[in-house]
Amino acid sequence: MKIGFIGLGNMGGGMAANLAKAGHEVHAFDLSGEALAKAGEAGCHPVSDAALAVNNMDAVVTMLPAGSHVRKVYEYEIIINGDPGTLVIDCSTIDVDSAKDVAIMAEAKGLVPVDAPVSGGIAAANGGTLTFMVGGSDEGFKRAEPILSDMGKAVIHAGGNGAGQAAKICNNMLLGASMIATCETFKMAEKLGLDLQTFYDISSKASGQSWSMTSYCPVPGVGPQSPADNGYEGGFAAALMLKDLRLAMEAAQSAGADVPMGAEAAKLYEQYAETEGQGGKDFSGIINMLAKG
Ligand code: NAD
Repeated sequence: MKIGFIGLGNMGGGMAANLAKAGHEVHAFDLSGEALAKAGEAGCHPVSDAALAVNNMDAVVTMLPAGSHVRKVYEYEIIINGDPGTLVIDCSTIDVDSAKDVAIMAEAKGLVPVDAPVSGGIAAANGGTLTFMVGGSDEGFKRAEPILSDMGKAVIHAGGNGAGQAAKICNNMLLGASMIATCETFKMAEKLGLDLQTFYDISSKASGQSWSMTSYCPVPGVGPQSPADNGYEGGFAAALMLKDLRLAMEAAQSAGADVPMGAEAAKLYEQYAETEGQGGKDFSGIINMLAKG
């Protein structure tokens, strides 16, 4: 297929490379010359203008920082230059309202829009093992699935346009809150004199078990290998968790949902990532802030 790809950063670079590896003709665009050159080395065709990654394509994938970038690229490039019938897939993590708005604009032009944010970080983007949560029509999902499968291990239809973003931020709000709960529990267990490995052995088989504990334990040397064993480097940056929690707070307000635990998680990640300047650390590193209490 002829696929346009806009946004070749930490995530998009590896994703575009995997599409090229799968045999697609990938016309890749980014504002950064360095990112464009890397895409060329990875088997994509770098183009000098976004229009060349949109015009005459079977599908266009975007992987951009935030809602404002996606709105701009849709408004000034995709809507103007897209051919009717082209599938347009936004994989960025953005607010639900922007996802719905760009889908309405794209549909009005005869394009077929889906939002398909990802779970999994840079390693999963490079390794082609992302999970995609897809919002869009049945036709959009059917057409997007084989393309997304070339970049990931799971592709799930969450519902209509915006549902992919809604699923992603609901999941990450739960993850943020459960990580903090796991961290503070280990700290309390320590203060109560429990051996942390013993507590892990008990709780990981009891009702307190969660992904934050058994797949991503925030305590070094306990549970499977995780960023805690690497000085809280790599993994999922606290700054990105904060971004997702802020999107969750916006969505909760717009939907009229009461989310006290999510709001507390957003407050604590703001303190860790911004006030304490630890946004580049893995999000499980918040255990070190809680340890001070
Ligand atoms: P990034 O900042 O590394 O990459 C974004 C790229 O978009 C940059 O190369 C930038 O030059 C390009 N760009 C910005 N405006 C553009 C425009 N108008 N035209 C063309 N290119 C433009 O960000 P990233 O880490 O790759 O994240 C991308 C998205 O994926 C974000 O929405 C992020 O929340 C989400 N995400 C990231 C991770 C992660 O671990 N990094 C994990 C899951 C989801």
